[in-house]
Amino acid sequence: MQGNFLTYLYVVPILGFVIWYWRRHGRLEQASLAALKAATEAGMLEPPTLHPEIDHTICIGCKSCVSACPEQDAHAVLGMIRKKAWLVGPSDCIGHGACKAACPVGAIKLVFGTSTRGIDIPVVKPNFETDVPGVFIAGELGGMGLIRNAVEQGRQAMESIKTLLKEGHSNDHDLVIVGAGPAGLASTLGAKEAGLNTVTVEQEELGGTVAHFPRRKLVMTQPAILPLVGKMKFKEVQKEDLIDYWREVEAKTGIRINYSERVDKIEPVPQGSGYVVTTNRASYNTRTVLLTIGRRGSPRQLGVPGEDLPKVTYRLIDAEQYRNQHVLVVGGGDSALEAATSIAAEPGTNVTLSYRSGAFSRAKPKNREKVEAMVADKRLRVLFNSNVKAIRDQDVVIEVGDRSGKLKNDAVIISAGGILPSAFLKTIGINVETKWGTE
Ligand SMILES: Cc1cc2nc3c(=O)[nH]c(=O)nc-3n(C[C@H](O)[C@H](O)[C@H](O)COP(=O)(O)OP(=O)(O)OC[C@H]3O[C@@H](n4cnc5c(N)ncnc54)[C@H](O)[C@@H]3O)c2cc1C
Ligand code: SF4
Repeated sequence: MQGNFLTYLYVVPILGFVIWYWRRHGRLEQASLAALKAATEAGMLEPPTLHPEIDHTICIGCKSCVSACPEQDAHAVLGMIRKKAWLVGPSDCIGHGACKAACPVGAIKLVFGTSTRGIDIPVVKPNFETDVPGVFIAGELGGMGLIRNAVEQGRQAMESIKTLLKEGHSNDHDLVIVGAGPAGLASTLGAKEAGLNTVTVEQEELGGTVAHFPRRKLVMTQPAILPLVGKMKFKEVQKEDLIDYWREVEAKTGIRINYSERVDKIEPVPQGSGYVVTTNRASYNTRTVLLTIGRRGSPRQLGVPGEDLPKVTYRLIDAEQYRNQHVLVVGGGDSALEAATSIAAEPGTNVTLSYRSGAFSRAKPKNREKVEAMVADKRLRVLFNSNVKAIRDQDVVIEVGDRSGKLKNDAVIISAGGILPSAFLKTIGINVETKWGTE
């Protein structure tokens, strides 16, 4: 009788805990294996920025890193396989570094690049100046990701530039700032505070990479100081609210940013000091340049007649705006497939996806399956081995194999990848170092 009582009191709860623990552990292992398999099949094994390298000889399998990763709720970034931590979603890692801080045994190192894919990082002095005198870099382009770091660096770079400009110069402008993500916004505010004659140009819109986050994404950040404004206090904020806050700052402080203006060339002033910055709209003669262009680069263009028509864009903002329209999406990566399927899901749309190769080998299986299902339902048309030849007001001319034809068209979305900033930096003469899995 007493034996039975003790069994109920001690053994059953312990047994229950062990079963619960193994089930939970097993579920995490299954999810981790599935995430790693999906990333491997899609060829998405290369982290885009700073990421953890886990030493499995030191890892004790405590899972602290998995719990600490702020991206984990949205994607399986870190996982547990055979009681060790693994980076199971490398392409979703954005370099928060919370895993390293959480690891109790120092098993995690944060590195750039991998042994198979090098990452180019420009060489920048502690005052943010590159080895090209008068050309500065701040924000993610310099290697350090995250919004708070970008804001802080943008502000600090302005302190160095201000000092340099005390020497005076004979150029039309003190400074051209390229890019209006968090680093460009903070430095534009800093330039206004310092009373500098500045031009800020942005090829797209305010917010940089943040403007491209998925709708309603929860942004995890740290407080940072914006010149003229003070402390930006957010820790967790939805993407749209953060962008709205930055827009209010822009309006309230009266800073001016030239949108839809892309810098194509930066060259030394012939027989003088400073630089000529050439954009798709104008050219500026300036003493200094601050590059806050991030690492996403510029969207790759098709280079076909009509690409400058207002109906052509390089990313999808809102699928609903294409209701009842004939839309052409160009590209074969995840963003092209996601744009095509979300527009095709809207009522009254007639969507064609054009890709120059014969298969979507670069896209995630879940996106490929969605496209196949929509094609089977006749809600989406895919043209493999096709090339856009011209974009016109009412239609597009497209070549499929050796045949050419016309498609009725109201809007074109080009998702053909980007041109990485390292090539651009090299044209300016900035020294770039390639990191292969090093700190
Ligand atoms: C999916 C994802 C989720 C993320 N989540 C978070 C998060 O939760 N918290 C966090 O802190 N960080 C997050 N990050 C990282 C963060 O977004 C970046 O580190 C930060 O935006 C970098 O700021 P930046 O100003 O240096 O560059 P960017 O934000 O990349 O801005 C650069 C700007 O320069 C412009 N530009 C580029 N080339 C030119 C040119 N030639 N001419 C004119 N303009 C040009 C671009 O259009 C862009 O607007 C995330 C990143 C990604 C990809
Ligand atoms: S926190 Fe460190 S020890 Fe714990 S699972 Fe992650 S890498 Fe391993």
